[in-house]
Amino acid sequence: MLAAVLMVENARVTQGRVIVVPQSNRSGFTHTDPMEAYLHRFEIATPAGPRWFRVGMRLTNPAHQWPDPDVFVHSPSLERMVGHETRNLNRNHPGRPGGWLTARVSHALTTIAKEAAMVLDLHEAQPEYPVINMMVAHEHAFEVAATATSMMQARRIPIGLSASPKNLHGLSHREFGDHTHAQAVLNRTLRTLNAKRREGLMTDWTETIKLDNSRLTFNGALSGARNKTMLELLGNPRGNYSQDCQEPTNELIKKLVVSRNLGPFKVRGLSPAVDALEKIMARVKEKEPDIHSRLGTAGMLCCRFVRGSSAAISNHSWGTAIDLTIDDELDDRGDNRAQKGLLQIFKHFNEFGFFWGAAFPTEDAMHFEASDQLMRQWAAEGKFGAVPAAVADDTLELGDRSAQVAEVQRKLAKVLSLDIDADGIFGAATRAAVITFQGQNGLKPDGVVGPATLAKIMAA
Ligand SMILES: [Zn+2]
Repeated sequence: MLAAVLMVENARVTQGRVIVVPQSNRSGFTHTDPMEAYLHRFEIATPAGPRWFRVGMRLTNPAHQWPDPDVFVHSPSLERMVGHETRNLNRNHPGRPGGWLTARVSHALTTIAKEAAMVLDLHEAQPEYPVINMMVAHEHAFEVAATATSMMQARRIPIGLSASPKNLHGLSHREFGDHTHAQAVLNRTLRTLNAKRREGLMTDWTETIKLDNSRLTFNGALSGARNKTMLELLGNPRGNYSQDCQEPTNELIKKLVVSRNLGPFKVRGLSPAVDALEKIMARVKEKEPDIHSRLGTAGMLCCRFVRGSSAAISNHSWGTAIDLTIDDELDDRGDNRAQKGLLQIFKHFNEFGFFWGAAFPTEDAMHFEASDQLMRQWAAEGKFGAVPAAVADDTLELGDRSAQVAEVQRKLAKVLSLDIDADGIFGAATRAAVITFQGQNGLKPDGVVGPATLAKIMAA
């Protein structure tokens, strides 16, 4: 209808005449489908103020044509269709002069088409239909439609071409083409009015969003699990690491590893973490079913170093971290961008004590892990066996990853004129710099940033 109004207001006729019917089924514009939550009208802001347009249906209002027969028999093809199609203008063509209202409207349009060289029907299609941005042409109009679509494609307007099916009756492009001399073409554009309701079908959840520094606060009070915490609570998963996945050799961890199907994907990880993920995935399914169905994983248990580090052990090594994919796509690490779908669901991970890697000093949005707090809680609950002594947490040391580590690295690089990458990962180079700094400042050179060392570094 908007396309027709655009033509009424903008077409410059240089030859013959153009007849535009903006509301071909006027009765259809007096109602909307009550079960579909359509808007009744919508507004467009213009320099002259807002303009409003009525939203309607292709079907004739039942107040104007009722009751529907059980079976609608199309004339003249005798094709049988479901009863309510008797009110569908685009199933009544070519119509009949003495028929019901919808058939008479169709007959009027066919009568106009008999005088025309060409009939362009303008339709909208729901977002999930494959015929969006498509010309559907009767065989008599195929050549002109093919020329038009290739000209549009040359101008980079996305448009496809399809042949009008010969055995589907009542459609404008079929019947006007069969019963008049006009070249009949249907043009379909996207119906956006109910796009909100169908947002899930419309959204590309893999699209990435630029993150600013507020990403560092995404997880609220939760922090990533420190190597120190993990080592004290569960021990070292194995004796040596590389950048490749290896199996744990630690007996306690091997005993706690389970495999489970979590719906959209299977995981293998530490039992309490898998239990928690099962709850998280149930919540994501409830709140974001569309994203849930698109989720996959790039792995959970995997003994290796943190990417790009030769000192910090990845929490995947303990099977408490998981990397997620959406539509099989991985979010790129370190680009300070995150897939829209991950931004939409990370709060459900937070709710169950999982930390989102988008807040790591080096952004890692595909990554979720049991937080330091959750690890301590599970330990206190005896989930790893015997309840261990409390772990002190007032130091920074090898394997730690945080914004504070990055701050320490920036300070040390400046004070010692060293080329340390402020990546927030406490690795071997950072440890060496700490030892140098401690030696120069009369501190015990143990490579651990305790309260005294931290105060000196920050004051330097
Ligand atoms: Zn990861």
